[in-house]
Amino acid sequence: MMSVPGARLGVLRLPLLGAFVRWRHARTAAQLPVLALALLVIYDGFFGPQLAPKNLAGVLPWLHWRGLVVLALLLVGNLFCLACPFMLTRGLARRLVKQQRPWPRALRGKWLAAGLLVLFFWSYEALDLWASPWLTATLAAAYFVGAFVVDGLFAGAPFCQYLCPIGQFHFVNALASPAEVKTCDRAICRSCSTKDCLKGRLVDGRWQSGCQSGLFQERKAGNVDCTFCLDCLHACPHDNVTIAWRLPTSELWTDPLRAGVGRLGRRTDLAALALVLVFASFLNAFGMVAPVYAFERWLAGLLHTDSEALVLLLLFIVGLIVLPALLALAAAAASRALSGAKEPLLALATRYSYCLVPMGFGMWLAHYGFHFLTGALTIVPVAQSAVADAGLPWFGAPRWDLGPLVPASWLLGIELLFLELGLLGSLVAAYRIAGAHLADHQRARWAFLPWAILALALSLAGAWLLLQPMEMRGTFLQG
Ligand code: SF4
Ligand code: SF4
Repeated sequence: MMSVPGARLGVLRLPLLGAFVRWRHARTAAQLPVLALALLVIYDGFFGPQLAPKNLAGVLPWLHWRGLVVLALLLVGNLFCLACPFMLTRGLARRLVKQQRPWPRALRGKWLAAGLLVLFFWSYEALDLWASPWLTATLAAAYFVGAFVVDGLFAGAPFCQYLCPIGQFHFVNALASPAEVKTCDRAICRSCSTKDCLKGRLVDGRWQSGCQSGLFQERKAGNVDCTFCLDCLHACPHDNVTIAWRLPTSELWTDPLRAGVGRLGRRTDLAALALVLVFASFLNAFGMVAPVYAFERWLAGLLHTDSEALVLLLLFIVGLIVLPALLALAAAAASRALSGAKEPLLALATRYSYCLVPMGFGMWLAHYGFHFLTGALTIVPVAQSAVADAGLPWFGAPRWDLGPLVPASWLLGIELLFLELGLLGSLVAAYRIAGAHLADHQRARWAFLPWAILALALSLAGAWLLLQPMEMRGTFLQG
């Protein structure tokens, strides 16, 4: 049955993990511990000390969760959507509200999600979310309410597909991941009359949903919109779905018609979302280094304002919308002129923009990896302190001396390695995209060149950022 390359070595063949994934309650089992942690974050955020480095809401989401998310995307794929506790509310909402309406046609696509991402990144800086346990707790609680309301009112998986900024981060960066949920043998799908992976079916008297994101396995390709929920795997009566290994970034090299997604090269909204995330990786890191303050002061002087929120709004509109659009269009124009291609500029920009995703992912890895490696062990004293604050001094005096996972001298090397891996992934993707569309090798090389230069420029900007003195916010304060 396992005739698709990669499926033979899929995650399902691994001891223990394979058995766990096949277990029907695997997702719930993954969600419940994360739900418990989310509830602890909300409790400590509202009722614990409001000093972020000493509060679970200050360290768990911003330091541990983000670090583990990018490592999971690097090593496997979108495991954190699999374990998403907010989705537990979907089942509850659909028990209470029996009839869901379709998500409005005008809101299908990624434009709204891209706008919400810009809003999220702006509010992260403007409201200093990382420094405010109660705001973080409010955000987590709002997430539960939002997922409950949206998925209660609308059919499918609209919260994940069209709204959730975290989900979009996973979908886009999982383009570079080494695993995907896919069918083992498409011939079996072609002869399958039930298509239960999409429609769902009764299993042992209990309803097993099919893919609520509308990704029909026979034509599913890649990780866009796939939450790794495993519903398809459990719904398929032919045991024909697996989690297959693949070459990282390889789904960017070709542009097949993807179930539920279409062709990436025709999805300007998805390309815009990808660009927002690529440039956000750099802007988010820029917000962490010392020169950002001088730049903000300069911008405030230029605007004659002392409102930081306004300065940041301009910075984020330019940095996440105007600059990415201009650079992508400029690269597309140069690529078209050099290769003699005849396509419209927007079509070229859309097709090639995805090649920058690995570069952005490398920067996210470098940035979030830095925080994780410098502060992962802070969870020990913060948890000790939270338990003690609840009147239960079971775990002794908090070990405030704990923090880093690796010696400080390793950090820059690890960050630069992630960044350069990202650059390599982008160069390969750009080259393969050009080669897939231009049969003439010489023209393909010319088409590739401007995108390679853009990726290289981004990696140099990333290296400069990594070499700047860090504002140590979000990491542990001794004491
Ligand atoms: S139910 Fe299984 S065999 Fe049928 S189309 Fe879906 S994945 Fe293929
Ligand atoms: S294809 Fe659909 S059902 Fe299968 S894991 Fe992805 S989101 Fe879930």
